[in-house]
Amino acid sequence: MEEGQPPRAKWHGPVVLFVSIVVCGLLAFAWLLPSGATTADPDPTVPPPVVVTPAVPVQKDPPPEPTPPPLPPEGHMPSGGVPGANVVGVDCSAVPCVALTFDDGPSTYRSALLDQLKALNVHVTFFDLGQSVAARPELLARSVAEGHAVGGHSWRHGDMVKAGPQAACEDANRTRNAIKDASGVDSPLVRPPYGAWDDAVLAACTGMTFVLWDVDTMDWATHDGAKVTDHVLNDSRPGSIILMHDTVSEDIAALPGIVAGLKERGYTLVTVPQLWAAPLETGRAVFNGPRATKN
Ligand SMILES: [Zn+2]
Repeated sequence: MEEGQPPRAKWHGPVVLFVSIVVCGLLAFAWLLPSGATTADPDPTVPPPVVVTPAVPVQKDPPPEPTPPPLPPEGHMPSGGVPGANVVGVDCSAVPCVALTFDDGPSTYRSALLDQLKALNVHVTFFDLGQSVAARPELLARSVAEGHAVGGHSWRHGDMVKAGPQAACEDANRTRNAIKDASGVDSPLVRPPYGAWDDAVLAACTGMTFVLWDVDTMDWATHDGAKVTDHVLNDSRPGSIILMHDTVSEDIAALPGIVAGLKERGYTLVTVPQLWAAPLETGRAVFNGPRATKN
């Protein structure tokens, strides 16, 4: 036994063995633990796990429902499908009627013209260009919704005689379809641009009625509301179809005087289809309605 050394206890050996086993066991346990399981810090060599977010569909507004074209007001659709007739129960073979017509629209003046016509409680007939209908379909839809009659005036103001029967009628049908697309109305009415038509064109354009005029206001040439008014009031007769233009803004201001003057002279203002009691026959050209006797 060495000097200064405490005597070893008899329990020393077993305890050392026990502690050694426990320490080794703990070390082995720690070594077997998966990497990272004992630390909160991520291993910089391991890329962070990709977080997969459940796919949430992007909420988009559903495509708008196509707006159906407005239907003509109750009572505005006559037999024969020509809108604008029967707005009022009038027999134009018994009472003197005239029909105001406006060509070359729908122009940018159409809204103001419709406002004026509504204020005057007058219904007219529009002969519109296919290209303008395609550009401003809402104006055509409004025209029909407010009780006016519509017809075609070629796609872009083409001369039907110069085009020849086949091309002229294809053009007229294209315009008719544009009007139908914009307003829901399938109108057989056609006003040949420049009043240019012949029997061959009329015969080729099956299912259509050519609507000419017997009063020419010359509004496109004068742009003078007073002169336009004089033409209408001096030249109209019972059954007259009066030619004006959607593109002449001076007509809008002249309308109150024109309407008042016609009414003073005993005329009822109607649309072109209303001039006849029965639906207009197709395959014919008309210049005026019935010439009722004027008191
Ligand atoms: Zn024209």
